[in-house]
Amino acid sequence: MTGTIATLTDLARAQTCARLVVKVGSALLVQGGEPRRQWLAGLAGEIAAAQARGQQVIVVSSGAIALGAARLGLAKGGRGSLADAQAAAAVGQIGLGGLWAELLGEHGLTAAQLLLTLDDLEDRRRYLNASATLNRLLEAGAVPVVNENDSVATQEIRFGDNDRLAARVAQAGRADAVLLLSDIDGLYDRNPRDPGATMIPLVRGVSADIHAMADGGSASGLGSGGMTSKLQAAEIAERAGIALAIINGTHDAPIGRALGLSGGEGIGTLFLPRRRDPARKAWLGGRMKIKGVLTVDDGAAGALRSGRSLLAKGVTGVSGDFARGDVVEVRDAGGMALAKGLAEYDGAECAAIMGRHTDEQADVLGYAPRNAVIHRDQMVLL
Ligand code: GLU
Repeated sequence: MTGTIATLTDLARAQTCARLVVKVGSALLVQGGEPRRQWLAGLAGEIAAAQARGQQVIVVSSGAIALGAARLGLAKGGRGSLADAQAAAAVGQIGLGGLWAELLGEHGLTAAQLLLTLDDLEDRRRYLNASATLNRLLEAGAVPVVNENDSVATQEIRFGDNDRLAARVAQAGRADAVLLLSDIDGLYDRNPRDPGATMIPLVRGVSADIHAMADGGSASGLGSGGMTSKLQAAEIAERAGIALAIINGTHDAPIGRALGLSGGEGIGTLFLPRRRDPARKAWLGGRMKIKGVLTVDDGAAGALRSGRSLLAKGVTGVSGDFARGDVVEVRDAGGMALAKGLAEYDGAECAAIMGRHTDEQADVLGYAPRNAVIHRDQMVLL
C-alpha cells in the first residue's frame, strides 16, 4: 500500500504513486494526419524517467482514428460515421502501436498493446483477466499501451472517449493515479475563454457545482473527450480510491511541468480520491452500462445512505428492461443518483412488488421473496 496523494508532486513519487496511468488524447498526438513524433518522443522520455524513479506506467493512447482517417482520406477525421471510425481505427492502430513501441524502445522499455472494449471491463471475469494481464506486464517491466478496440466496438457498447477508459484501466491495473493530458491547464470555474476564469487546483469530490463548470465538447474537434468526460473519469477514479489529474499536454515535457519536477507545486487540477472501496465494489461502482432505474422514497434513500439494503417497500418507480443480476441505478424522488447495484429481480418483478411489504410479495411473485431488491453487498453508494 502506497502513501496518500495530497498534491500534484505526489504523483511523481514512487512512495505515493507506485502506478500511474498516463492518458494521451488524439489532439496532442496527431497533427495534420501525422503523429507529432518529436513531442511524443519527449513524452516517452518522461515515461522512462518515471520508470527510473521506481514508478510503473500504463499508457492509454488515442490517435488511431485520427491517424487512420488521414491515411484512408476519410472526412471529419474518421468520425463521420461509426463505420468510418471503425475502419480508420483498424488502419491507424497499427502505426500507433508501432510508434509507441519504437519511442519507448529508445529508452530500453518494452511496449505491450492492449485493445479493450467496454464489455471487457464490465464483465467481471473478463475484467479480472485484463487486470491480471496488466499486472503481469507491469511486473515484467513492460509499459502497457491501451486503446479502445474501436474497430469492433459498436455504438451502444463503446466507451467512445479514452478518459473514462483510462479511469477504468486504472482500476483494473490497480493504479494510484491517472494523468489526463489535455489541451488546457486544468478545470476552470467557467468557460476558460472568459477573462475572469480561474483554474481550480484541487477538487475533493466531483459535486454538481463542479459539473456545472464543464462545458462539454473538445476544443480541438479531433478527440471525443472534452471536460465532461474528464469529470466522469474523475468520478470513477475518486470512488475507486484513485487520484486523477487534468494537466496541460501541449507543452514539451508536460509531465514534468505539471507535476512540478523542476520546482514549484505543479500546474493542473488534482481530484483527490474519496474512498477506497473493496476491489469488487470499486469495479461495480465504475460499471457504466446501466440497464434500469429504481426510484425510491425518502425513507429508503436514508436507509441506503446508512448502509442498508434496498427493500421493495421503498421503491416508487421502475424503468428499463433489466434482468436479475443487471446493474441498475437507484435515484431519489428528485432524480438524483444515489447508488448503483445488481438487481435481485427483473424489471417486471420489481414493478410488481414495489411499495409492498415483504409478507405481501410472495402472493404477487408466486414464490418466496428474496431479502431485498438490491442487497447491500451488491450495491455502491455514489
Ligand atoms: N480510441 C479513439 C482513438 O484511438 C479515441 C477516443 C477518444 O477520442 O478519446 O482514436
